[in-house]
Amino acid sequence: MPPTYEATSAWAQAQDAADPLAGFRDEFLIPPHEGRDGRYFCGNSLGLQPRAVRPALSAELDYWGELAVEGHFKGRAPWLNYEDYLRDNLAALVGAKPIEVVAMNTLGVNLHLMMVSFYRPTAERPAILIEAGAFPTDRYAVESQIRYHGFDPADALIELEGDGPHGTLSMAAIERALAEHGHRVALVLLPGIQYRTGQAFDFKAITALAHARGCTVGFDLAHAVGNLPLALHDSGMDFAVWCHYKYVNSGPGAVGGVFVHERHATAELPRFHGWWGNRRDNRFQMAPTFDPTPGAEGWQLSNPPILAMVPLRISLEIFHRAGMDRLRAKSLQLTGYLEWLVNSQLADLLEIITPADPTQRGAQLSIRVRGGRERGRALFDYLVDQGIIGDWREPDVIRISPAPLYNRFADCLAFAEAVRAWSDAG
Ligand SMILES: *Cc1c(COP(=O)(O)O)cnc(C)c1O
Repeated sequence: MPPTYEATSAWAQAQDAADPLAGFRDEFLIPPHEGRDGRYFCGNSLGLQPRAVRPALSAELDYWGELAVEGHFKGRAPWLNYEDYLRDNLAALVGAKPIEVVAMNTLGVNLHLMMVSFYRPTAERPAILIEAGAFPTDRYAVESQIRYHGFDPADALIELEGDGPHGTLSMAAIERALAEHGHRVALVLLPGIQYRTGQAFDFKAITALAHARGCTVGFDLAHAVGNLPLALHDSGMDFAVWCHYKYVNSGPGAVGGVFVHERHATAELPRFHGWWGNRRDNRFQMAPTFDPTPGAEGWQLSNPPILAMVPLRISLEIFHRAGMDRLRAKSLQLTGYLEWLVNSQLADLLEIITPADPTQRGAQLSIRVRGGRERGRALFDYLVDQGIIGDWREPDVIRISPAPLYNRFADCLAFAEAVRAWSDAG
């Protein structure tokens, strides 16, 4: 039965009171606005700070002060094998085997490291296929990789134009592009969720299509991790990269994540080597020859930045306790409510460009304001003044993302009421 929604605070508050995940909100610092909690809808850009991060960071600083180099071996969580404290929770979060994931570097760096191994262009097959309007770093990265290998992006960068409403991309368009260009494509690189439209893609179907044409497949999961339940191993994709500062709440510039499918765990692939990618059991023999750790950890270059790993460790523990399936169930309700409010109360003012099919989106709704860009900017600025924080993406999109760990139905209603108040004020 479809959920029945109501645009009243009594209804919204009753939903929040009955929410089995409601307690998680108290584990986060909610940015205040004029003496009360603001309405934060920007977890797609920078997730909120878990309260447990500060004491955990403080403990590491104490170890550093008291133990110094001995901190690698002593304390409650010695630094030497810090990956061990994250691996299982990270694997569970993305639906991977522990050997397939590692937290390291940042998204852009990891994308390049993965392309070193998984973009192997030849004269017959030089191309990379991406979506038109890809996030800048992704486009810059693939363009520079194409040039680095001596090819010309004018010929070897294929950008797939959206054929659906509001620039969304249908499976049929992906299928057609692979049928036409697949024989020339070395790498297909697509987003898990497109950052501007909020459209979610079917990894498994795309991977099967691309593999059938002999292409390698990677995904940028920046907007998908911590937002959708994922099954990366089963999808069969070759690799994925993502960041942890968006839905995974690990702080500005947080350490990123990488997935390398198990079938490549011991494959002889070209890659850039560093001592932390070497096997643990002989890492400290300081041998001149690189002997890789099987799996994703073999791509590590450096010993991990412990102070930056702490918020990620804490955040992954929160996701472990909340469970991605329960979060998704709430997210469907919460984003469904926001969508219903916009379509039933605000259709004269706003238009949602994110797919209406819940299986083709996560928490985020991308919204255009009727009447053009200037009106959109004006509404966006008004909302910020009211303590309602979304974000603006050029040329004309307001992104509003209720995050199920800390957003409430009452927040969605407050958004709708503020938009109406803005319109009424003329
Ligand atoms: C957020 C985001 C990035 C950011 O990359 P960093 O290297 O973490 O700065 C890259 N690509 C996509 C698709 C994103 O959404």
